[in-house]
Amino acid sequence: MPDHLAEPASLWDQGWYARALRLDSPNFGPRPAGACIDLIVIHSISLPPGQYGGQQVQDLFTNQLDWDAHPYFSEIRGLQVSSHFYIRRDGSLCQFVSAEDRAWHAGASEYRGRPQCNDDSIGIELEGLEGDVFEDAQYEQLSRLCLDLHRLYPIAHVAGHEHIAPGRKGDPGKGFDWQRLKATLQLPDQCFPVCF
Ligand SMILES: [Zn+2]
Repeated sequence: MPDHLAEPASLWDQGWYARALRLDSPNFGPRPAGACIDLIVIHSISLPPGQYGGQQVQDLFTNQLDWDAHPYFSEIRGLQVSSHFYIRRDGSLCQFVSAEDRAWHAGASEYRGRPQCNDDSIGIELEGLEGDVFEDAQYEQLSRLCLDLHRLYPIAHVAGHEHIAPGRKGDPGKGFDWQRLKATLQLPDQCFPVCF
C-alpha cells in the first residue's frame, strides 16, 4: 500500500476533520445512495466582497448573517448555502458540513460528465476575491486538506467553481495558482482542469 494511503483514522470522525474548527451549518442534506465522492471543488468568497478577516462568511454558512449590516447583504438576503470547508487568509480552517453529507456550494453544475456536483463533491471555500491572489498559508492548508481528503475518498478531480459552472461562476478566479496546488498534491494532469 502506498504510504499516502495509510489509515489516518484519527483525522476523520464521521466526515469531520480533526484539524478544522467545527461550525455546524443547517444547510446540508444526505448524499444520494452510492455517491462516489471523487471531486474537490475550490471556491473563493468574502463578505462584503474584498473585505477579509471578519465573521460574515461563517455567519452566512450558519444562517446567522445580519442581512441589514451591509448594503451588499441585501443582494443575497435569505441565501441558504454552505461549504464543507473554509480556509481563511491566515490559513485557519473551519468545517461546516460533514464530508459524508451534501453541502450546498455548487448550485447548477456539471463536471466529468455528471450533473449536480453537490451530490458527490467536497466544497472548499478560500477567503478571497475573484482576481485577487491567495496567501501562502491558504495554499499550505489547502494542500494538506486535499491530501487528507484523498486518503478518505477516491479523489480523481480537483476543479474550480468556474470549471463546474462555466459562464455562471468565476471563482476562485485568475488569482488562484493551479500549478502550485498541482505541484503539492502530486496528482496526475488529468485530475485538474485543462484550462489553466
Ligand atoms: Zn463558488
